Amino acid sequence: MATEEQQVYVRSGDRTGEGVLHVAVYGPQERMRRAAVACGVAWGLALLSIPIPIAHFVLVPGFLIAGPVVGFLRYRRERSTERLTGTCPACGRDFEIVLQSSEEPPLRSYCPHCQAPLEALRELPETGAPEPAPGEEGGAGDRPGGQAGSEAGG
Ligand SMILES: [Zn+2]
Repeated sequence: MATEEQQVYVRSGDRTGEGVLHVAVYGPQERMRRAAVACGVAWGLALLSIPIPIAHFVLVPGFLIAGPVVGFLRYRRERSTERLTGTCPACGRDFEIVLQSSEEPPLRSYCPHCQAPLEALRELPETGAPEPAPGEEGGAGDRPGGQAGSEAGG
């Protein structure tokens, strides 16, 4: 089983840092083995369901059918995300977050140190210029009287 490391961006609030997404990549044999395990587990559950009265009419065929289905779904999965590492933009400490195999960026989690909400992104969203928006408030004509400092002497 090979592991792939993908560069991602980690965003918290308006701060952005960098992180690494660790992805397990399965070869054909690995996928076949995972599929067989999933199918075996389902069929094992089917066997365990046999002694259950009444429910076994549903459970046994259900698990028997689910075995190849789950196995197929697992066989199709060529890669699965394992964990996300990086530096928290909020507190600056390194973190490691264990992921579900189906979790893909953009995904949300929390910093294990400071509980800041983290967002992992493959690409940074396009944002406007960092300068404040040009929509200035207040117009002309709101000024309090034009006192040009010219005092009339006399
Ligand atoms: Zn943090």
